[in-house]
Amino acid sequence: MPRLRSLAVLAKSANMGLNVDAEEADRLSLSLEVISRVLAEPALAGWDGFGVVVQAYGSRAGAVIDAIYDMAEAHDRRVMVRLVKGAYWDSEIKRAQVEGLDGFPVFTSKAASDVSYLANARKLLGRTDRIYPQFATHNAHTIAAILHMADDRTFEFQRLHGMGETLHGLVKDAHGSRCRIYAPVGAHRDPLAYLVRRLLENGANSSFVSLIVDDQILAEEVARDPFEALGGDSGIRRGPDLFAPERANAKGFDLTHTPTLRQIEQAREPFAAHAWQAEPLLAGAVTGGDPVLVRNPARHVDVVGMVRYADQADVQTALDAARVWGASAQERTAILNRAADLYEEAYGEIFALLCREAGKSMPDATAELREAVDFLRYYATRSAGLAEPVGVFACISPWNFPLAILSGQIAAALMAGNGVLAKPAE
Ligand SMILES: Cc1cc2nc3c(=O)[nH]c(=O)nc-3n(C[C@H](O)[C@H](O)[C@H](O)COP(=O)(O)OP(=O)(O)OC[C@H]3O[C@@H](n4cnc5c(N)ncnc54)[C@H](O)[C@@H]3O)c2cc1C
Repeated sequence: MPRLRSLAVLAKSANMGLNVDAEEADRLSLSLEVISRVLAEPALAGWDGFGVVVQAYGSRAGAVIDAIYDMAEAHDRRVMVRLVKGAYWDSEIKRAQVEGLDGFPVFTSKAASDVSYLANARKLLGRTDRIYPQFATHNAHTIAAILHMADDRTFEFQRLHGMGETLHGLVKDAHGSRCRIYAPVGAHRDPLAYLVRRLLENGANSSFVSLIVDDQILAEEVARDPFEALGGDSGIRRGPDLFAPERANAKGFDLTHTPTLRQIEQAREPFAAHAWQAEPLLAGAVTGGDPVLVRNPARHVDVVGMVRYADQADVQTALDAARVWGASAQERTAILNRAADLYEEAYGEIFALLCREAGKSMPDATAELREAVDFLRYYATRSAGLAEPVGVFACISPWNFPLAILSGQIAAALMAGNGVLAKPAE
């Protein structure tokens, strides 16, 4: 926030505009918090050069415009809003799927993004008392629709340097509209990310700039009304269904979503000061060593619990009792799946333990639990064509993945009908 504030003050003193670009959807709430505080800055009073970018492919776009308008009202400012469709579609879809999230932060069809763009353009054009609308697009249909809606309201078009020159030139000549050209500046390494994004954008089959240079595609098709193309199933799988019908994906946790964070906090709370007692789990009597104190590696005053390590006699008891698993493949599948469900149900305790004992951050803890669950469900599906069990396996977990890798090793050996002696990391 201080950095953006000082840049804004500098831009104001130079009488130039400053735009905060829109990046990945998981940064949207944070960006808005920073923007709202900077806009409130008294030093920026009377300056109309502060700009925010809104991505129409985001399903929250309309609400974001409302929020920006309210901020401008509250602080008596005029802001510039650049409406774009959004440059990170593939990674938004992929992230939501990989993280097992229940939906997507962006629309899943090109037509829906186009329609959202028009709806939000109309919203901006209706708020020109506080907002200066800027329409950044290289799509001729979108531009024509805006010209049609704008009447005599003040706005501008924007294009990227090297793109849409002919189109925007024609529009400027015919309508006398304004067009701002956005160009990357810097040493050759700085604009690389920018250039890669342009390559992806122009290479996408659905993109206007790619369609218009393909003379096999009719003009009517290129400039088709997006409202007509709306509807139907995009066929894009949501996170939970990613591996369907074979298995369920591990439950996801959106750590950028405040209500989810609150829910995790509540589930962890009962274990915030809990002291676990660990000792060998044997099919026989435990002798064990003396209990040893386990401390949180990040906060030594936090005692996580006590552990009694196995001694030589315990290892012998375990070895004597170990044998291959007599259960049928069907039963093994059911038990591994049940274990996965129980892990997910116990997420509060598991997160507390992973953070307090293994020193994991929340993103690491969620990744670890999800990997453990995926291992269990993955091996549970491997019942076909199994050979006879080999015998007894010793599974030793590494310290850095105390749950996931230990669970994976155990699940693989058990699914094949073997017995397992498991030694957790200290
Ligand atoms: C001046 C300027 C500044 C920009 N600043 C930003 C910025 O700050 N942040 C940012 O993210 N982008 C920014 N962009 C990039 C912008 O998002 C893309 O240029 C834009 O999406 C391309 O839209 P179009 O209307 O030109 O093309 P079109 O071809 O009409 O639209 C392509 C867009 O449609 C959307 N789309 C494509 N397929 C699908 C699908 N299956 N489901 C849903 N939506 C789909 C995507 O957003 C894709 O980029 C900027 C662009 C310009 C010109």
